[in-house]
Amino acid sequence: MTTHFQIGDLSIDRVLESEFPVLEPAEVYPDCTAAQVEHNLPWLAPRFYDVAAGKLILAFQGFVIRSHGKTILVDTCVGDCKERRRADFHRQQWNWLGRLAQAGLAPEAIDYVVCTHFHVDHVGWNPRLVDGRGVPTFPNARYLFAQAEWDYWWSAAGKPNRERTGDYMSDSIVPVVDAGLVDFVATDHRIDPGVTLVPAPGHTPGMVCVAVQSHQQHAIIAGDLLHTVLQLAYPDWSTRFCADPHLSRQTRRAFLERHAGSDTLILPAHFPAPTAGTIERHGDAYRFRFSGEQAG
Ligand SMILES: [Zn+2]
Repeated sequence: MTTHFQIGDLSIDRVLESEFPVLEPAEVYPDCTAAQVEHNLPWLAPRFYDVAAGKLILAFQGFVIRSHGKTILVDTCVGDCKERRRADFHRQQWNWLGRLAQAGLAPEAIDYVVCTHFHVDHVGWNPRLVDGRGVPTFPNARYLFAQAEWDYWWSAAGKPNRERTGDYMSDSIVPVVDAGLVDFVATDHRIDPGVTLVPAPGHTPGMVCVAVQSHQQHAIIAGDLLHTVLQLAYPDWSTRFCADPHLSRQTRRAFLERHAGSDTLILPAHFPAPTAGTIERHGDAYRFRFSGEQAG
């Protein structure tokens, strides 16, 4: 399913790879108790939480921005046929390129590829396997990677995290670097007048959000700054996958506070359909109002 959002003269299309119950709450959030899950069940299930599986439902997807005649792809999902430790990601065949085609896009039409960060589920389609070799999927694109992110994953601090999921750096990042398609950029890099990277360090050191604006309308593709709607109710919950849980918490809290009550459309990487929505204050925390839905 593709979903289209208009931001002034610009547009964002959501291109889904998969959406399914994937992670137990305590597997994602070390601070989450069974009692807290139980307490929130009336609104969590069945939309965000599969009670039978005991797992939170996450989407895996990329976003296509059309801006000033250019086509910008943000995040390239898990990918097909990859060797991965997590069974859910291992040697999958989701045919995400078919969904991209449904959005009217051949791989050759992509001008820029941005990965919000280098986690296994955001880089998978950078190259695809052709005769056992990683070949850039988007041959006409410049791949814009944050220098800080690249540096981290090759550092001593990044190594154990890289090894947790299988070596996606070698099979999904290095081939496009070797092909000469990568520009290493600052985390506040401006792609064009309507599209700018915004630093969001913590989940990973070089993570970026992508801010889109046109005619006083604003959207932010938020990467993994928020994994699930539970983090609006519990803004202090960082994930086990956060490289720096403390900084992740600071960045998330500042982001929620800045955008609460505004019209800025927020598109977190893993929120289920329709993914996009706005942030509202709710008690001493927040809640997410999905695009097209009335206040609850
Ligand atoms: Zn992710």
